[in-house]
Amino acid sequence: MAKSVLDAGWFMLKTQLEYKSVATQGVFIEVNESYTTQTCSCCGCISCNSPKGRAGLGIREWNCAECGTTHDRDVNAAKNILALGHERLAVGITVPLGR
Ligand SMILES: [Zn+2]
Repeated sequence: MAKSVLDAGWFMLKTQLEYKSVATQGVFIEVNESYTTQTCSCCGCISCNSPKGRAGLGIREWNCAECGTTHDRDVNAAKNILALGHERLAVGITVPLGR
């Protein structure tokens, strides 16, 4: 039940973001968020002490073993997702006709 509620919430969030993007002639894209929590947003590596799997769910802050940067779990993931979005924008996004 909790997963269904979570899925419905995400669906509504994505629907509203897409709707608002179209209304303001913006661009809405989805990126693959896999490994965005584990990947260091500074050096790009997946450190040996980054939060992984179910055991890592309680880890809110961690240090990258490669570059020594201290990360807040959520802020690090947000930076990685933003970077993925910028990469997609740099490559180019086809805009459907009629916009
Ligand atoms: Zn690092």
